[in-house]
Amino acid sequence: MKTKTKAKPTTRPRKPSERWPRFFSNMLAQLDVAGDDPVFLTKADIASDAKPYLSGFMNQGLLSEEFTNALACISCDAMAAILRTGAKGEKVSALCPCCGAVFQPSGKELRRWRADWNSLGEWIKVIAAINGEMEAVSPSALFLGHAAKGQERFEIYLARSLADQMTARTIYSAISQSMNGRGIVLSVAGNPAKIANLKMTIASLDECIVLTDAGGGFAWPEHVFAGKDQAKQRAGFAKVQNDPCQKQKENLKGFVRQKITGIFADKYHHKIAEEIIKKHAGQIAYTDRLGKKQQLSKRLILDAVAEIMRENGLDDWISGKKFRK
Ligand SMILES: [Zn+2]
Repeated sequence: MKTKTKAKPTTRPRKPSERWPRFFSNMLAQLDVAGDDPVFLTKADIASDAKPYLSGFMNQGLLSEEFTNALACISCDAMAAILRTGAKGEKVSALCPCCGAVFQPSGKELRRWRADWNSLGEWIKVIAAINGEMEAVSPSALFLGHAAKGQERFEIYLARSLADQMTARTIYSAISQSMNGRGIVLSVAGNPAKIANLKMTIASLDECIVLTDAGGGFAWPEHVFAGKDQAKQRAGFAKVQNDPCQKQKENLKGFVRQKITGIFADKYHHKIAEEIIKKHAGQIAYTDRLGKKQQLSKRLILDAVAEIMRENGLDDWISGKKFRK
């Protein structure tokens, strides 16, 4: 009887890369350090069950087929040069400069596939639907274009050699300088160095790229979009914690939240604000850091009321256009 091997309990979600063919992981690892040198794959690099991926990658522009111009000699350790003759270069022979052997290589032996840094960038643009013109911002970083999530637009960068802390710092700084809004950095290497810039988030390709028979697919991990909001929330929270005025505004919001379906129902927000100022002065009074009695400004009261009205789907009752989101 067959015994099933029990799957190990995993504490983390599986990364798409755990289903990548080995040649693809190897190729990315080489591109991560290759500089501007292309990476070549030969038949020997690609396991038979991984071959279906080749045509998908070629269709999507990641790989291009380029015939080799050198082959291992059949009779010595040197490399034999490939010679092409005939009108269209259709006659192929190999000549060893070392031992002088001449032999006929097979078509299969001559095939190899080329990938390079730019083709990787163009490929990710295609599979992740990133719009814009690709541009190098440093020898190790490409600006790929923009991607949208909801109302927000993100600048997308692809960077290599980020596993090394020192190199990563230089690259992040080059990206920061080119960035105008919010950025997402895609790292070729897994476990890239952490980013300090709050406007930038990072994901490694092994979190995003999913391979199918058709080639590559791309899925953005949710965390890359969350960065700024979290930072904003943290900053907002700290502000409320420390600022008596903001704290009182939050208290006022609580008060309005309770009353909005009661005594404030069916009122425009400026009417509610007026009513608060007239009848509920206790809700807008606070003591500032110097111990001085203060009152919330009209602007803050209007904002507090409008925020609660939005919360309750009463946007139509918000008058004026100066309301800050
Ligand atoms: Zn030879």
